[in-house]
Amino acid sequence: TDAAGPRLAGAAGDPLAVAWGLGTMQALGLTSVRAEPVTVRVWVRGEERVEVLSPVPHRLAAAALGGSVGTPPGGLEGALVRVASLEELRALAPERARGRSVFVDQRMARAQDGHGYGETVPIRGQSASVAAGLGAIAVLIRSVGTDQTRFPHTGAMRYVEGVPQLPAAAVSNPAADVLARWIEAGQAVRVRLELGAHDGGQAQSANVIGEVSGTDRADEIVLLGAHLDSWDLGRGAVDDGAGCAIVLEVARWLAQAEPPPRRTVRVVLFANEENGLAGARAYAAAHREERHVLGLEADFGDGRAWALRTPDLTERAEPSSISSRWDPIARLLAPMGVVWQPEEPHGGADLGPMHDALPDGAGMPVVDVMQDGTRYFDLHHTANDILTQIDGESLDHAMRAVLADAYAASLE
Ligand code: ZN
Ligand code: ZN
Repeated sequence: TDAAGPRLAGAAGDPLAVAWGLGTMQALGLTSVRAEPVTVRVWVRGEERVEVLSPVPHRLAAAALGGSVGTPPGGLEGALVRVASLEELRALAPERARGRSVFVDQRMARAQDGHGYGETVPIRGQSASVAAGLGAIAVLIRSVGTDQTRFPHTGAMRYVEGVPQLPAAAVSNPAADVLARWIEAGQAVRVRLELGAHDGGQAQSANVIGEVSGTDRADEIVLLGAHLDSWDLGRGAVDDGAGCAIVLEVARWLAQAEPPPRRTVRVVLFANEENGLAGARAYAAAHREERHVLGLEADFGDGRAWALRTPDLTERAEPSSISSRWDPIARLLAPMGVVWQPEEPHGGADLGPMHDALPDGAGMPVVDVMQDGTRYFDLHHTANDILTQIDGESLDHAMRAVLADAYAASLE
């Protein structure tokens, strides 16, 4: 976070982060350290200003969503129409939306497993195109985040082909609250958006990769992933500096472990997770023929580990017998307060292209070390995602749970 700062794909911090990753892996004693090129699409935020014109003029704490287009020069003005969910937006009568800005006002629920994110993140991704189909001129959403601070939460959105591309921004939770109070009181709200967001063309980034070489099963890979990029507003400490720290520290331990790993443990710091997943796709394209026996991704901040989710592989043509080994791993983790949940693990966004498809039709098996996400979405994708927020003790706890998994999987 200090060496590269904000590091959105293709921005000034991106090559600094790649250089930091290479140097850190070398210093930790990893082997085969390299940067594998990834072409990324660059998005530039530019200057932005969102303000209420009436009933009480003032500036709102707001941030464009990643991938949004900007407003025309001079900005956009319009009345605000509020809906409580994406479903309500889809059902909105076009005459209520036409020529107006739409405000999608659904609050994200706080939860240990972060499930409130899955419930609300489609609003961030899809509202602009739904509103465009209704004839709206712009979209504001309540931040997808659980805090009560004035920090807006950015994050990726995307446009559907064939409908106009509307500028889209998130307002902080307190800003959403005041908009909601006025509208509930029957007051007409007018807002003005001026967003300088624009496409910045293509740039070169890289996945940073290093290994702890296996012994007699070196051609079998246990993949540990995190992402090197971050959103532009903060410094990417919880998302995903923490995950990078977890997988790098695990690798540092494994490089000194006795007995050494039999399988190769490969650490991948992925490029461009936040704004396109180009790094994940490039990795899968280059490496899908290699024998990946297990993948684990750390992308949930600095929270303590509280659960282990393992795949039920009994009905699948499984290239290894790792599935029969979960029980002893779960026993290792139980004294740390980590419960074993035989629920289907997700693996995470960066492992998706490997998890979803391999040549034999069976994806790379994944395991989830579930981290406590109660506080994660207070900081996620905000200017407040900085190193000062990191709790080293809980981060270390999560690291040890991942270490136990990775070491056991590499030895089996
Ligand atoms: Zn992340
Ligand atoms: Zn993120």
